[in-house]
Amino acid sequence: MSSRKTDPRVIILSGPSGAGKTTLHDRLLAAPRFAGKLVRSVSATTRQPRGQEQEGRDYFFVSVKMFEARIKRGAFLEWARVFDNYYGTPLKYVRENLKQGKSVLLCIDVQGGRQIKQKLPEAVAIFVKTPTIAELGRRLTARKTDSKASVALRLETAGKELKEACFYDHVLVNDDLARAGQELEALVAGYIGG
Ligand code: 5GP
Repeated sequence: MSSRKTDPRVIILSGPSGAGKTTLHDRLLAAPRFAGKLVRSVSATTRQPRGQEQEGRDYFFVSVKMFEARIKRGAFLEWARVFDNYYGTPLKYVRENLKQGKSVLLCIDVQGGRQIKQKLPEAVAIFVKTPTIAELGRRLTARKTDSKASVALRLETAGKELKEACFYDHVLVNDDLARAGQELEALVAGYIGG
């Protein structure tokens, strides 16, 4: 049976680090038209918390041992190693929300995006990118959170991630945050209403 417009969906946002997917993700969740219809998934990770990040709000911070036990138990809808850490989407939370008629928004890497599209073809996968790699480099340098080596690693990873964009249902060019945000809202509303 094909999905209808009002069916709850898993919505995946992926894209290179620095392309603006986290900001677009936060804006989408704050949009009044999606209140009560769209919830964020909180991933588990083995990386250390950064800055103001809070347990249970930004991530569930767990040990490698705990993460690997959860993999074995089948507790993740998808999981991947990204920049030397584990990241995974808790299956139970996604399942429960879909059952309650709510769509679930995931901000995950391309390996995870691919796994979910294989398991749930009706998931909506959106790839966010900057107009050019040079622009991505400018944004990563401007945000001053990464060392030169880290910017170089993120740019190298971005080159690989961009090759995966063709497996996504939509590619969103984040040339201007306000414009891209509006395009994303309209796109998502086309799937889940609102
Ligand atoms: P960060 O450490 O900067 O928060 O995230 C690093 C990368 O991991 C980002 O591309 C982010 O989208 C991705 N990520 C976060 N949570 C998950 C998850 O649950 N699964 C996968 N596959 N990637 C994730």
